[in-house]
Amino acid sequence: MSADDDIEIDGWWIENLHDGYRQMLKIDRLLYDSKTDKQRIRVFENATFGRVLTLDDILQTTERDEFMYHEMLAHVPILAHGAVHSVLIIGGGDGGMLREVARHKAIGRIVQVEIDEQVIAFAKEYLPMLSAGAFDDPRVELVISDGAKYVAEADDTFDVIIVDSTDPIGPGAALFSDAFYADCARRLADGGVIVTQNGVPFTQADEVINTMTAFKGLFADYTCYTACIPGYAGGQMAFGWGTNDEELRATPLEVLQRRYRAENLSTRYYTPEVHQAAFALPRYIKDLIP
Ligand code: SAM
Repeated sequence: MSADDDIEIDGWWIENLHDGYRQMLKIDRLLYDSKTDKQRIRVFENATFGRVLTLDDILQTTERDEFMYHEMLAHVPILAHGAVHSVLIIGGGDGGMLREVARHKAIGRIVQVEIDEQVIAFAKEYLPMLSAGAFDDPRVELVISDGAKYVAEADDTFDVIIVDSTDPIGPGAALFSDAFYADCARRLADGGVIVTQNGVPFTQADEVINTMTAFKGLFADYTCYTACIPGYAGGQMAFGWGTNDEELRATPLEVLQRRYRAENLSTRYYTPEVHQAAFALPRYIKDLIP
C-alpha cells in the first residue's frame, strides 16, 4: 500500500494521527491539493463539516466547527486580561484566529507570524469565511517566518500571545519546544498571558505534559482550559494558559460579562459562563499537569 492509499480509501479521507485510532471524512468534492516546500495542503467539502482544511493529512480546521476553537483561544485571554493593546498570533494561517482577535476594537496592534504564506493565500481563496477580510485590517502586521525564530529574535512585547499551531510534527514541532516557550515568556508584557493549542489530552497527553512542565518553570500561574471541538476527535481539546498575573484566571463572572457586553461580541461558543467553566478540569486532565 502506498502512502497515498493509506490516507485515502474510496473517496474517504483518513486522518493518520494516532496509533490504532483514525477518523474518516468523506471527500464530497476535492477543491485544492498542493504540496508546498513546508507541507501538503488540501481542502475538500464534506456533508457534516462543510469545507475541511488538512495539512500533511492532519485535520486543521473545518467550516462548521472552527468557531468553537477560534472563539475560545481568542476571547478567553483577551477578556480575562481586560486591557489588551497588542496581540501576537503564531501560526493560524487560515485567518480564523485573526478574525476573532480583530473583533476587539481596542486592540491597536496585531502581529501574526505564519511560516507558510501559501496557507494564507489559498485559505483566502478557498476558506474566505475564516478570515472574513481580517487580513486587510490596517492594525495587522503579517510576518512570514518561523514563529520560533520570530520570538527568539525580536524584543517588543505583547499583552496576549496566541499559539495557533499545527500538531508537534514537521514545522509545528518548534512551537512546542522549551526554548520557544521561554522566548514567548520574555515577549509577554507585564500582566500578559499566553495561550496555546495543546491537542486532545485523551490521545495526546504528552502535549499537555510537555507544555505544562515548561510553563511550570516560566509562569506564576499555569494550567489548561478545554473545549469540545468535533473535528479534533477523541474528546475535549486542551489549551495551555500561562501568566504571571495569578488573578486573571479567577476574573469574576460579572467582570467578564461586562467586558463581553462592552465589546459587543456576538459569539456562538464563547460565553462568560463557558469561559469560567472551561477551567474546571476533569481529573484525568488535571493529573497531567505537574
Ligand atoms: N487549529 C489547528 C489545529 O489545532 O490543528 C491549527 C491550524 S493553523 C492552520 C496552524 C498553522 O500553523 C498553519 O497555517 C501552519 O502553516 C502554521 N505553522 C506551523 N508551524 C509553524 C511555525 N514554526 N511558525 C509559524 N507558523 C507555523
